[in-house]
Amino acid sequence: YQKSIHRNCHLPGETIDGFRVAVHSNIELFEEVAAVLDYGGEGIGLFRTEYSYMNRPSLPTEEELYEEYKELAEIMDGKKVTYRTLDLGSDKLLSQHAQISERNPALGLRSIRFCLQHKDMFKTQLRAILRAAVHGNCAMMYPMISGLRELREANKVLFEVKQDLRRDGLHFAENIPVGIMVELPSAVMTAELLAREVDFFSIGTNDLIQYSLGIDRTNKDVSYLYQPLHPAVLRSIKMVVDAAHQSGIEVSLCGEVASDPFCVPILLGMQIDSLSMNPQAIPGIKRIIRQTTMDECKTLLRRILDCRTVMKINRLVMDSIFTRF
Ligand code: PEP
Ligand code: MG
Repeated sequence: YQKSIHRNCHLPGETIDGFRVAVHSNIELFEEVAAVLDYGGEGIGLFRTEYSYMNRPSLPTEEELYEEYKELAEIMDGKKVTYRTLDLGSDKLLSQHAQISERNPALGLRSIRFCLQHKDMFKTQLRAILRAAVHGNCAMMYPMISGLRELREANKVLFEVKQDLRRDGLHFAENIPVGIMVELPSAVMTAELLAREVDFFSIGTNDLIQYSLGIDRTNKDVSYLYQPLHPAVLRSIKMVVDAAHQSGIEVSLCGEVASDPFCVPILLGMQIDSLSMNPQAIPGIKRIIRQTTMDECKTLLRRILDCRTVMKINRLVMDSIFTRF
């Protein structure tokens, strides 16, 4: 059974009635790229670039980053590679900053906020991404964007970096698509505004669930309350997908929810454009996609949006999976 799943993992993620959903992969380290290709990944939907900065005494140089990013773009050979800019802080700490203690690190100086306060470090990474992006089919995205002001501030830094690269006479991807991760409730509520100023969205449900439900994603004591199928989470995801499509941009989902067999049919019903997950999950998720129809997924979604509690939704999803697969 496992063998047959693996054998079919290079087929496209397409429902029986012809709806395509791109199945991409999340990676943390360059070395994982072999697994992505082996398990049928159609691209890299999330490269967690912060891992190249962690567990080392000094910061990587622009050249080191450029070489790593370039090699990734080249190995993927025309398949999409999405670099996420640094998402440091909270659960992902730099050795040099490991001592910083914040009372609420998840609500503290992390991610894009950290980058906007450490512009030299941010600029070094942006230079490396822009230069590497000429070697493949690349995109970049900012994590933890809370609203328009922050997006524009990040884009201003990007603009300055492009000017610097031009001045330095270096070759770079002038028109690299720039997206944001939607992982804060404030971004969900302003998705319609944000969609007009970015090239794509990628929904980060790991953080979106944490911030929407007020549940620390690393705290085992409250993990039973960390519920991907909570009506608030599902409605948020739907709002973001609809806002993206109304503005004519694509929307991906790269949190753990993308590899959850119970959630995938619902996401298909919302007409998500792509899912990004750990490489090993790809064959199983592709199998689910290929054995279902968009009609079924839309019907399931309609019924789920009518449910008022997580328990009811869980039951409905469970029933639909067991009758279908
Ligand atoms: C997320 O928050 O869903 C996500 C994909 O990013 P990370 O898990 O790296 O915070
Ligand atoms: Mg996140």
